[in-house]
Amino acid sequence: MAQLSPQLKQATPVVATHGEGVYLYDDAGNRHLDFTAGIGVTSTGHCHPKVVAAAQEQVGTLIHGQYTTIMHKPLQQLTARLGEVLPSGLDSLFFANSGSEAAEAALRLVRQATGRPNIVVFQGGFHGRTVAAASLTTSGTKFRAGFSPLMGGVVVSPFPNPSHYRAYGWDAEQATDFALRELDLVLQTQSNPADTAAFLVEPVLGEGGYIPGTERFFAGLRERADEHGILLVVDEVQTGFGRTGRFWGQEHFGLKPDVQMFAKGIASGFPISGIAASQEVMAKAWPGSQGGTYGANAVACAAALATLDVIKEEGLVANSAARGEQLKAGLQRIGQRHSQVIDVHGLGLMVSVEFADSAGNPDGAAAAAVHKKAAENGLLLLTNGMYGQNVRFIPALVVTEAQVDDALSIWEKTLDAVL
Ligand code: PLP
Repeated sequence: MAQLSPQLKQATPVVATHGEGVYLYDDAGNRHLDFTAGIGVTSTGHCHPKVVAAAQEQVGTLIHGQYTTIMHKPLQQLTARLGEVLPSGLDSLFFANSGSEAAEAALRLVRQATGRPNIVVFQGGFHGRTVAAASLTTSGTKFRAGFSPLMGGVVVSPFPNPSHYRAYGWDAEQATDFALRELDLVLQTQSNPADTAAFLVEPVLGEGGYIPGTERFFAGLRERADEHGILLVVDEVQTGFGRTGRFWGQEHFGLKPDVQMFAKGIASGFPISGIAASQEVMAKAWPGSQGGTYGANAVACAAALATLDVIKEEGLVANSAARGEQLKAGLQRIGQRHSQVIDVHGLGLMVSVEFADSAGNPDGAAAAAVHKKAAENGLLLLTNGMYGQNVRFIPALVVTEAQVDDALSIWEKTLDAVL
């Protein structure tokens, strides 16, 4: 009998039969509180009726129209709608199917637009799993090891990560000073600005541990980008569409991108992603240099339009902020009772609990044990962090106050059992 390849390591034994809101149901009749949301994808919850209706209607109308052959209505409408929510000036859009493809598209664009080879990325960033996206990724060796030679022209500079620099006694501000000084050194010694096409950064490190950047760090990137004609690419694949309690993660920091990537929460589970840039920047890439068979699938576009409606009508950005505060406060309160819980960090509904051993070192084993036990107790979570030392919470943005309380009680019981 055929089996899934062993590289797909399933974190839980759950075989889901259906989903509704923040719940998943399995083939043994169990209900699970899903605080993974398909890794931040099902933003409006599983099978939101409006998204289901929009997709069903589109399936019966036009499923696929290849976008370099013909235009279709849902793509026209989605382009216009995204224009209303994207930062002003980023009004030229390209669509693909996944976050990794958005990274590839951004890479192609910035190299062509500047004629320069290098991309400076920031330690702990995750941008996907294709070989080019993996080359831009520094959040764990599992994403890179054994694939060499990876793409050249990638230079890594520090991210102001207080979780990592805690060992030096640095806070976010001190980590910011260090990161900016190191970036200057990188531009001086490794990636001459005249060879640097772009800085590529996440507003909040995702796979890297739910570590928000700082306003001063991003202002420093903007300043250096402007000074040297370097393009600033902001990866909003995980942080976009209300996830952080603002529509875009960048809004917390006054961060202004030249190129923006988006995916995940845009279409409640349908695969669609893209990049946005100014018309001026986009026009510098060669016609025909972006494309694909499936990009901007008509059903995915219809689902994205319905998702944007639901986010607006149900006030999901504000809910993400409020429920995120509730979740973070509850996790902090519960964490105080356990010495292995050393921090709770994140923004909005992307929150991580960080574990360390008695010597203060990142404790991936504790995070894995807690994650497993939580799943047995009916709460589906994920891990993250460069050492796998965090358990992360990333529920659908429709999660209610009572559901957050339920998750917190399961979490409390889980920590009591494991630690
Ligand atoms: N960029 C960020 C910030 C992500 O979090 C992810 C996925 O987790 C990606 C890119 C890659 O997206 P995908 O898995 O859809 O290729």
